[in-house]
Amino acid sequence: MSNLPNCPQCNSAYTYEDGDFLICPECAYEWTMHQVAENDDLIVKDANGNLLADGNSVSVIKDLKVKGSSTPLKQGTKVKNIRLVAGDHNIDCKIDGFGSMKLKSEFVKKLS
Ligand SMILES: [Zn+2]
Repeated sequence: MSNLPNCPQCNSAYTYEDGDFLICPECAYEWTMHQVAENDDLIVKDANGNLLADGNSVSVIKDLKVKGSSTPLKQGTKVKNIRLVAGDHNIDCKIDGFGSMKLKSEFVKKLS
């Protein structure tokens, strides 16, 4: 059984997938899952449940292993000018000594 969403046009439950498209057989409406996802605002929260936004500064709340580096990212490291992205590691940032990397929002807290 499929978990496809109902048709946004006529609310039919008989939608089916064709490649990247979802198609409604009843009203012939076509759309993509991607379209729907893009309209959602990213909601990213730090370890304390505070909402994060692009450009915020955060600090790391625990030592984190970094892929490809023998030095861990130390607890208390400040990260400036974060960028929110979709996915498991939802913060894109640049850290001195590490360069560009991605962090999980649950391991940082927002700095005011
Ligand atoms: Zn429809």
